[in-house]
Amino acid sequence: MLHKNLSVNSAGHLEFAGVDTTEIAKEYGTPAYLVDENLVLENFSTYQKAMKEYMGEGSMPLFASKALSYTGIYRLISELNGCIDIVSPGELYTAVNAGFDMSRAFFHGSNKTDADIAFGLKENVGYFVVDNVFELEEISKQASALGKTQKILLRVTPGIDPHTHAKINTGKVDSKFGAPIETGIAEKLFCKVLETPNVQLEGFHSHIGSQIFETEPFSDAARIMLEFIAMLHEKYQFETNYLNLGGGFGVRYTEDDPVIDYAERIKKLSGEIREHCEDFGIKQPNILMEPGRSIVAAAGLTIYEIGSTKEIEGFKNYASIDGGMTDNPRYALYQSPYTCVLANRMNDECDFVCTIAGRCCESGDLIQENVAIPKPTRGDILAVLVTGAYNYSMASNYNRVPRPPIIAIRDGKPRVAVRRETYADLCALDA
Ligand SMILES: *Cc1c(COP(=O)(O)O)cnc(C)c1O
Repeated sequence: MLHKNLSVNSAGHLEFAGVDTTEIAKEYGTPAYLVDENLVLENFSTYQKAMKEYMGEGSMPLFASKALSYTGIYRLISELNGCIDIVSPGELYTAVNAGFDMSRAFFHGSNKTDADIAFGLKENVGYFVVDNVFELEEISKQASALGKTQKILLRVTPGIDPHTHAKINTGKVDSKFGAPIETGIAEKLFCKVLETPNVQLEGFHSHIGSQIFETEPFSDAARIMLEFIAMLHEKYQFETNYLNLGGGFGVRYTEDDPVIDYAERIKKLSGEIREHCEDFGIKQPNILMEPGRSIVAAAGLTIYEIGSTKEIEGFKNYASIDGGMTDNPRYALYQSPYTCVLANRMNDECDFVCTIAGRCCESGDLIQENVAIPKPTRGDILAVLVTGAYNYSMASNYNRVPRPPIIAIRDGKPRVAVRRETYADLCALDA
């Protein structure tokens, strides 16, 4: 099937991470997120090994935890002695709650508040990824009050042309993130850092976008960043320790997407980085990458129960589920493609073309359109595949819908990693 952790057993049921998904539905209820912890570990260590082998000893991935943030995920990354990237004080808190070694954390965000900065400094976050001069000044002020020096990276925007690379939209010159190289702001910010006390500049960061299937945009971004680094070396004799190329490798959501060998891609990119460094006559900095989606997406799946079915003769069909945009807003937000299957009838003919609709009072609450499944009956189990990234982390309580649990599966054994929200939880904050 789509990924190696998916198969069909002799009962015609969908298996995920070696477990019958219909059994999970019976035991834990629906909707529920399932997370294949073994695949999370495998994916992250693939990056670790390939980056070390091809990009040098000091090169490594940071898990972009905004893709999937709960206490257990930080424990998994800890097991591999990995680093993380966090973008909010809530993610910071969750990592601290997991006992994560915060010296291995990189703190992002384009608008960190004074309180966020204080929190990061108190918890001894290893690196702040500084987005702008306001933040730089506040970090310096607070670090000096604490008598410490904070290591930082600067987020710069390489100005990758969105017309050449349509899906890429965070590295443009007019992005809300970072200091653009093209306008000279990045160099000004760099100069400002050199005269700012209590901060130590370790390198530069760029993130060009997400769900990118080619290595070329990364190579282009690396080239622009390395040219900038070479200029700073020549003009200011500055030695860059880290070049962080951000996240963004694509994931296979449907049969239309390619099968991707991440180690192979890292190898290819490393060769291109080496060539750029030779062209600019500089020593290669340690390379960091921040994969989120490509670590967790295929390690996740969501199960739902089918309720009502509607056939509008000559128009379209609907199958309704007991979840929707509250647990997976990505179709409503971006028309993201997903693969949907009837988990309890995997061998039946898929002759019913329908729209999978959620339970919210919102016409846009859809999971996918034009899905071919066997004609469902009430109580069938629908599985939406590859939902490990940006589903749980983007979930909401719209319509006062409680969030589903995360059932983590390790070595074929399921357990509750995040319990299901209750109605009492929904009212717990109400005065
Ligand atoms: C979102 C994000 C990532 C992760 O991107 P993926 O596409 O999930 O790999 C990495 N770094 C930064 C700064 C991000 O904003």
